[in-house]
Amino acid sequence: MIEIKQVRKSYGSLEVLKGIDLTIDKGEVVAMIGPSGSGKSTLLQCINGLETISSGEIIVDGVSVFDKATNLNHLRRKLGIVFQSYNAFPHMTVRRNVTLALTKVLGVSRDQANAIAETQLQRVGLLAKADVYPTALSGGQQQRLGIARALAMGPSYMLFDEVTSALDPELVAEVLATLRQLSAEGMTMILVTHEMQFAREVADRVVFFHEGVIAESGPPEQIFGNPKSERLRAFVSRAG
Ligand code: ADP
Ligand code: MG
Repeated sequence: MIEIKQVRKSYGSLEVLKGIDLTIDKGEVVAMIGPSGSGKSTLLQCINGLETISSGEIIVDGVSVFDKATNLNHLRRKLGIVFQSYNAFPHMTVRRNVTLALTKVLGVSRDQANAIAETQLQRVGLLAKADVYPTALSGGQQQRLGIARALAMGPSYMLFDEVTSALDPELVAEVLATLRQLSAEGMTMILVTHEMQFAREVADRVVFFHEGVIAESGPPEQIFGNPKSERLRAFVSRAG
């Protein structure tokens, strides 16, 4: 599980996380919603140690992320992260994009890495594209490649930061279908999303960020159907 305790983070004099408390259990799907600039991406990056925190603690499976004794590379293998757009290596096939970190970082044999790549490409519906180059993929397919690459490392948790927001509307559904499938397989996921309908459907819990605090959290029925605070009500009605 992921335990976030009283996390504060500042960029210079700007405090962007102001005491975040959140626990994500194994198998849970947590959707993070909230206005732009409220700290959602920053928190995701702190969880896998891409950004440091000013105070508080983040613990992943009992290991404190910012403890000096923690091996961050080892910890990050547990945490797959996918961003708004995936920058594949253009001169490598889809398959090689997936196997690269396996062979170079994990020291997996080429044969074994290829087998893992095929399994994960199949999982995201891209096996037929294994031998093409990323430039031949649609935006949605590129995002699914990014997801396959992250899954290939065998993470226990997947973090998604607005993975559909750079896509043309007609490509959003195929990426959401992949996320839906991962959730059905029991993957523990944190997803920052603007897709309210999707959050409502797949999330076990929805967390509403506002100006660096969790202003409200609860099951989707409550967050979308019966928001308590005026700012969440306003946000939900704006977001549709
Ligand atoms: P969200 O993902 O909810 O839109 P972010 O976590 O990206 O919000 O940003 C929260 C705040 O932190 C914003 O005010 C943003 O401008 C600021 N911020 C984010 N990254 C940096 C950075 N690397 N340096 C300085 N300020 C940053
Ligand atoms: Mg963001």
